[in-house]
Amino acid sequence: MDIKKLAVFMKENGAPAFRIKQARDAVFKHFAASWDEVPVLPAPLREALHRSVRIHSVDTLETLVSKKGDAVKFCFGLKDDHKIETVLLNLMPEKWSLCISTQVGCPVRCPFCATGRKGLKRNLSPEEITDQFLAAAHYLKKTRQQKITNVIFMGMGEPFLNYESVAEAIKAISDPDRIGLGHRHISVSTAGHVPGIRRYAKDFPQCNLAISLHAVEDALRTSLVPLNSTYPLGQLTKALTDYIFSTKRRVFVEYVMLEGINSSRSQAARLNSWLRTVAAPKYFVVNLIPYNRTGSLYRAPARERVKVFADLLTEMGIEVTTRKSMGEDIAGACGQLAGE
Ligand code: SAH
Ligand code: SF4
Repeated sequence: MDIKKLAVFMKENGAPAFRIKQARDAVFKHFAASWDEVPVLPAPLREALHRSVRIHSVDTLETLVSKKGDAVKFCFGLKDDHKIETVLLNLMPEKWSLCISTQVGCPVRCPFCATGRKGLKRNLSPEEITDQFLAAAHYLKKTRQQKITNVIFMGMGEPFLNYESVAEAIKAISDPDRIGLGHRHISVSTAGHVPGIRRYAKDFPQCNLAISLHAVEDALRTSLVPLNSTYPLGQLTKALTDYIFSTKRRVFVEYVMLEGINSSRSQAARLNSWLRTVAAPKYFVVNLIPYNRTGSLYRAPARERVKVFADLLTEMGIEVTTRKSMGEDIAGACGQLAGE
């Protein structure tokens, strides 16, 4: 919901300041999805709001729950009929991470990613980004009486190619007068947009940063993440070194495992050396993401190979986690979001 629009409307209708706060809290703190759910407001005001102020700028078209119940994918419709997807992940008991989209499609066009295949349709507005949270929080409250504990900007799109809107959304999500989630519970994942990383370090030093690395040689990385031709590894190294120096925070490194492409023993050793040129190993957590099927020609390595790669990195002193695929049965796993 656009709070400026709410404030203007309330003033025009002669509602006192405390009514604005009641309406804002109902939406951002109690996750009301319709003004009918806000009995503290007088009925005539509710009706007027109903006619003039939309709570969600995204319409829930479909809600899919994985068989295990640990992932929920929302398909949202936008006012110009584009569709986006948002995924709730139950990573630990009582903990829910929300994976939010920032663009309709993505201009980076990584060949293994379903979002990238469509190219960019348009950027999302700050309201459309924040409202994914409000709609998912409403669902979680109603169906399970639980709350979203973490937000990851890792859905459709490259967040730093829509920096202004993402920054506004982070403010809405963390503002104590609105949703109030702490910066440490918010993460942004980038394909390696160097100016974005530098800005983010200044604007949100307490938030988390994830880098989709996937390879540490320029030719290979450019073929996997075409943005690498604009911001090659040399520039990324410097940006990450500076990021770690100024924020003193760990960086999460995403590494999609593709059979025969980037998953050999020697590539594990090269990854280790590259990380050490950026900063001390304690500043990294490497997340291995076995490739999820998206209809491309890539394949995931056998489970054994992923384990060998992970064990090698561990022996070299790098913290490693292997992402278990969640929500694959609802096409809600990493890289599978296409808004279809
Ligand atoms: N554009 C941003 C954030 C969204 S992509 C970025 O690239 O970081 C979220 C993550 O899913 C990225 O790490 C991406 O590399 C990964 N991913 C994309 N397609 C995938 C696939 N088919 N299998 C596994 N991971 C994939
Ligand atoms: Fe865009 Fe990220 Fe998909 Fe690459 S992996 S196409 S950057 S959404």
